[in-house]
Amino acid sequence: MAHRYRLYPAPDQRGGLVRHCCDARYVWNLALEQANCYRPGRPTPGPAERSRQLAEARRGTWLGEGSSSVQQQALRDFDQALGNWWGGTHRRPRWRKAGLDEGFCVRDVKVERLNRRWATLVVPKVGTVRCRLTRPMPAGHGMARVTADRAGRWHVSFSAPQPVIERTPTGRAVGLDAGVVATVTTSGGEHLHAPDVSTAEAGRLRRLQRRLARQQKGSMRRDRTKAAIARLKAREADRRRDFIEQTTTSLVRDFDLIAVEDLNVKAMIRSARGTRDAPGVNVAAKRGLNRAISAQGWSMLRRRLSDKAATCGVTVVAVNPAHTSQHCAVCGHTCAENRKNQAVFGCRACGHVANADVNAATNILAAGLAVTARGGTSRSRGPDETRTRPVAA
Ligand SMILES: [Zn+2]
Repeated sequence: MAHRYRLYPAPDQRGGLVRHCCDARYVWNLALEQANCYRPGRPTPGPAERSRQLAEARRGTWLGEGSSSVQQQALRDFDQALGNWWGGTHRRPRWRKAGLDEGFCVRDVKVERLNRRWATLVVPKVGTVRCRLTRPMPAGHGMARVTADRAGRWHVSFSAPQPVIERTPTGRAVGLDAGVVATVTTSGGEHLHAPDVSTAEAGRLRRLQRRLARQQKGSMRRDRTKAAIARLKAREADRRRDFIEQTTTSLVRDFDLIAVEDLNVKAMIRSARGTRDAPGVNVAAKRGLNRAISAQGWSMLRRRLSDKAATCGVTVVAVNPAHTSQHCAVCGHTCAENRKNQAVFGCRACGHVANADVNAATNILAAGLAVTARGGTSRSRGPDETRTRPVAA
């Protein structure tokens, strides 16, 4: 995980930081172009050769006015990304786009603590930039990544291991159901809702987007509207992130075993539209659902849950979600008619009536417990969790 701190550059420092972002993006994109030009028999230049090419390009061009260490670091950054792609852990490196992927890396960054709340960070050619300490800095911060978001905020992040969560075993287990109405429903009957945009904010967003559509491309006023939209969206994303962090910490503190649905969220988002040969059905309805799933950040919640559970011996079990919504948690009868509507579960065999999400969460918990009873993991395995067969036949 990364420890991220807000940076507060002085007005005259912003230009320098933006310049570094442009340089890093330019060098990254050049390296990507070079890698794309690879053909058998014509090897791409290695790191040493490219580094020499960069030094040569810096002589007599505008690149020379920028920071050499920022530009060289962009090359190393790219090599790392390429290595990660070959290693199969990450996606193929993409083009960096202006306004979207703004950032650069600083190696051997010097951080000086001013007091309990503030520190300064030395950025080449820019000087000391003020940094707000919202949490203790990790020891030995080697590489720092400075980024700008679309709302115009600057951050610096250091990679650091996930801090251990202090907890005492509770002997309790829980099943979690991901939904659209409630973000997460627990088998204990709790409904957790990720914060949504308020009606006032939604109205403001709509008005801003209408205004944006009328404004002339490239105009100052349009840029101002864009920035206002970005600020609104950034606030929404911050709240969602906060919800996820708080929810996952309290779940990991309260439960020794957490069973979740093994939903492949990414596949769900992709599959709705289908392909040209096999177009999807119900595209519009699924798009709405997909938007809700993405908005509620279930995959991010899952990831943070696993990260945190791994530090303190909590087990996270991913169970196959097939039939969890149609299976009666009391008698085990499974049929589609059990689900009366989106909200209510009513068993056709035994008459058990419950909230549909709570019933599903109970089934997920039962499946998770079955896995551990069969000699599954007694400790968390981290991100790649235990996978199981369908819960009901
Ligand atoms: Zn039943």
